[in-house]
This record gives sequence, structure tokens and C-alpha cells, in this order.
Amino acid sequence: MRDLTQDFVELIRRASTDLSPDVQQSLEKARDVEEKGSAAQSALITILDNVELSRQNSTPICQDTGTPIFYVHYPEGWSTRKLREQIRAAIVEATKKSYLRPNAVDAITDKNTGNNLGDDAFPTIHFEEVEGDTLTADYLMKGGGCENVGAQYSLPNSQLGAGRDLAGVRKVVLDAVQKAQGQGCAPGILGVAIGGDRGSSYYRSKEVLFRKMDDTNPDPELARLEDRLTDEANQMGIGPMGFGGKTTVLGTKMTGMHRLPASYFVSVSYMCWAHRRRRLIVRGEEVSYE
Ligand code: SF4
Repeated sequence: MRDLTQDFVELIRRASTDLSPDVQQSLEKARDVEEKGSAAQSALITILDNVELSRQNSTPICQDTGTPIFYVHYPEGWSTRKLREQIRAAIVEATKKSYLRPNAVDAITDKNTGNNLGDDAFPTIHFEEVEGDTLTADYLMKGGGCENVGAQYSLPNSQLGAGRDLAGVRKVVLDAVQKAQGQGCAPGILGVAIGGDRGSSYYRSKEVLFRKMDDTNPDPELARLEDRLTDEANQMGIGPMGFGGKTTVLGTKMTGMHRLPASYFVSVSYMCWAHRRRRLIVRGEEVSYE
């Protein structure tokens, strides 16, 4: 089996220092709709300047390089044990090269390991075997500030008047945005999963963040709700970094799951403007990145 360690290092470098074009375009659009000379527009101009500098210098877009999360889809015959070893070796090398800040802190002793390796869940690696001959590794860097304002709701929620339907989902997602204010480094992107159990629901709410910013949900009902939630969140006036303005979220991505009759969870993963995610594709000897 081929050694992908250096390819994973390059995947991490790209994610950390070279913001995906679709995210950058969303930020540029937001800059153009904010009022000229406003604090909101200045914040977006500064963000976009930093994005460009990071790209030129191969330095992290934000000092918090977040929790490293991988979703690996591999063809039959690959060893997940070896892939895990290679990803963990790549994490250590990327930390040495300062693409990543040492972020793995033991929750019991409070000690930072210094190399971004913690227990089996740090980095987080999800594996799934797929048909065909192509391996894809999606990598997400989930910042701490925005992770802290993520929220999970168990419906019905009488305080918010939210029942077990999409109208209820709308109410709790807007509640999460309202409570986050500027703390998750707005403008953010909302990843929302409806259903599942508490664990699977949060898992899916992050996975859905890999969708392109300008795509359309194949479920027309969810597509309408995504647009509506983005519009309504932007009418709250929280704005970039909480400075006020027209852009509180750049987009909303939703997915539905099956659930127990007794439960109805809605999980909201709030992703900050530094939405760092990249894909490695390995097909035979050919390696490419998206
Ligand atoms: S929330 Fe995002 S932009 Fe804000 S400090 Fe953390 S990683 Fe950086």
C-alpha cells in the first residue's frame, strides 16, 4: 500500500493556508453588500487581506488551527490502520512546519502534547470503505471559538415554541445564531443535522459543511429552508465579528437523518468565516487536491 504521509501534509498545508475559492467568493460578496466604510465592511476587507497574505506566505489563515477532522473514503484493500498512522505522522510534521498550532490538550492533566496528537479521537478520523478505485480524504479544521457556539436541541422545545417539524427546526437554528452573536467569528456557515442520536447528529452536522457554498440541497424543502434561514439570520443585524451589518451567516447547509420515534434532535455546527476544508483525491498513481 502506498505511503500518503506527504500527501496528507500537503492537504493540511492547503487547508490551513489557502482558503477554498468558494468560501473566499462568499466573503467577497459579503464585503460588497456591506455599507461602504462601515465596521462590517472593514472587518471583511481585513479578513480578505489576511486570506491573501496567508496564501502568499503559506502561513495559517487564523492562529487557531482548530480540531483536525478527517473523513476518509477508501477503496477495498487499503489498511485503515496504516492510513491512521500516516495521517497522525502528517499531523506531527505539519505542526513542526507551523501549518498547525499545537492544539491537543489533555482534558484531565491540562498538558498540551505539543504535536497535535492526542488520544484516538485527536485528530478525529472517520473511515468508510467505498466502491471503485478512488480514495478521497476530506479534511476540516474546526476552530474552537465557533465550536463553542454550536448547539444541540431536543424537540419539542416549549421555551422556544418549537415542535417536531421543520417550523420547529427553523426556530431553534435561529436561536443558535442569536445566542452565538459575534462569538463564533461571524460571518459563519451553519451545518445543521435533523434527527439521528446525539452523536450521529453532531457528526452529520459537520460532514454537511463539506458541501460547496453555492450548491443547492437536492431536497427542495430543505433547499428553501436553507435560503430562508440564511436570509433571516442576516436580518438579525449581528454582522461580521458582531460589529453589526447585513452578513451574519454566509450560508446554511442542512441534512435529514432517521431518528427514534421518541427523539427529535437538531444539531447546529457553527463554522466561522475561516472555513478551512480541503480534499485529497488519490486515483492509482495520480494525486490531486480540491
Ligand atoms: S473561531 Fe475561527 S476565525 Fe475565530 S479564532 Fe477560531 S478558528 Fe479563528
